[in-house]
Amino acid sequence: MGTLSPAVAAAFRRLRDDLCRHLDEAECLVDQDDEWSRGDVATARKLINGLVVVLRGLLTEHTLQHSGDCRTCVVAWPCPVFTTVHVLMKDPQRQFPALVFRSQGIRTKGTG
Ligand SMILES: [Zn+2]
Repeated sequence: MGTLSPAVAAAFRRLRDDLCRHLDEAECLVDQDDEWSRGDVATARKLINGLVVVLRGLLTEHTLQHSGDCRTCVVAWPCPVFTTVHVLMKDPQRQFPALVFRSQGIRTKGTG
């Protein structure tokens, strides 16, 4: 695979950053010390609903076909995307840091 041009890499970073802002908004709400206002509750409901839709969409895109492959990745199921979603949903507090470390090439105990 080739190297991305600086313009394409910047566009991809902006795309990623835009998605991360949605997650930051949800995290800020969770970390807020003050009691939630009605607006905060409405925002939380909207964010939770949106995140559930995102996860269901990912799971739908990466579903098992009769052939035994992932519908989208066309590799043996469970594909890497499904596996990542699965481990993060089952144990997010432990798996997310391990995922970040792996993405940075840092090996941690028990994460392969
Ligand atoms: Zn897949």
